[in-house]
Amino acid sequence: MTDLAEENRKLRTRLRRLTETARHNEAVFRRSLAREEALLAADDLPALIEALSVGLKDAFAVDGLTLTLADSRRELRGFLLFHGIDPGALPGVRFLEAQAVARELGEPIRTRLGAWHPHRHAHIFPASARIASLATLPLARHGSLLGYLSLGSRDPRRFDFHLAVDFLDRLGQIAALCMENAVQRERLRLHSLTDVLTGLPNRRHLEERLQQEVARAMREERPLSGLFVDADHFKAINDRYGHPAGDQALRLLAECIRSELRTSDLAARYGGEEFTLILPGTTIADARAIGERIRRRVADAELALADGQLLRLTISLGASTLEPPFSGDDPAVMGSRLLRQADQALYRAKARGRNRVVAYPELAGEVVAAGISH
Ligand code: GH3
Ligand code: MG
Ligand code: MG
Repeated sequence: MTDLAEENRKLRTRLRRLTETARHNEAVFRRSLAREEALLAADDLPALIEALSVGLKDAFAVDGLTLTLADSRRELRGFLLFHGIDPGALPGVRFLEAQAVARELGEPIRTRLGAWHPHRHAHIFPASARIASLATLPLARHGSLLGYLSLGSRDPRRFDFHLAVDFLDRLGQIAALCMENAVQRERLRLHSLTDVLTGLPNRRHLEERLQQEVARAMREERPLSGLFVDADHFKAINDRYGHPAGDQALRLLAECIRSELRTSDLAARYGGEEFTLILPGTTIADARAIGERIRRRVADAELALADGQLLRLTISLGASTLEPPFSGDDPAVMGSRLLRQADQALYRAKARGRNRVVAYPELAGEVVAAGISH
């Protein structure tokens, strides 16, 4: 009887332990699924990078997380810039040449757990972060290395090399799959939002970004300026030199505009021989100065045509601005006002003889002056 009672007690204890383990595994599994779902839900590259960096750092409650991405051709950084995101300002994200990624990871390519090592890991987590153990998850697809994730903990046992790596392995594979998909989607997006002739963003992209930039300017209480650019007597250029020469001239214009752009600026081909620039954090005086530099660059350029003729052309520009303090206006309304005012200023630049920049506020002064004198 005592033996049976003892046996029973032991069995109960075992059952309790098994139940605890099952509960623990279920919780781990659920957390793991939630992390995977967050990656799969990211619908563009910025969202995925955010989910892989800030998102996973929170989800794992780790002390450090670094996402290293292979970006030899700067394609990923180009996609981010196209979204209006500065790739250099993303916390915990590094962009490297593919060879450097391979060198850092070493062979064989597999998920690793172990102690933080000052020689091997200082570029991922500096000594000051006091990381004691880390997990390294390679992101690879079809044998090509997309990058890797490093999770770091101050707890030396958190990523002990004895632990099972199945969940982390799987997460790395899903992250790589998501990355591959996101890159494909970004390529299509870039294609559909780019003007074929000049390689600049098209009007659709401008309209998409304009609202974002207005909303950002309002949030940050910073000015936002716009420039409308229109080639002078462009119809005559086509008539005199032919349509292919006109196309060459449009590419030259795009080049002159691009050369004056800063990282946060956006230039687009609005249509035909018209271009638009959106300049965040720029006052009307600076927008005017940028417009003036573009104008001079175009006026000074000589375009050598296929038949040896030299073509010269000029542009007219209109500048406008949105300045704080902002009232509670709708960003869409503010955005169209910015473009409309730049267009009105451009119209005036044409009327005043072309090859010049006019800023919308000057126009308002003129109207007032006219009102007084009449
Ligand atoms: P203004 O100084 O008043 O702006 O005169 P403009 O001749 O430039 O203005 P208008 O709007 O009359 O003509 C624009 C011309 O731009 C007409 C059109 O054939 C030409 N154009 C528009 N898109 C393209 C293009 O993709 N390639 C070429 N070659 N020409 C284009
Ligand atoms: Mg025009
Ligand atoms: Mg024109």
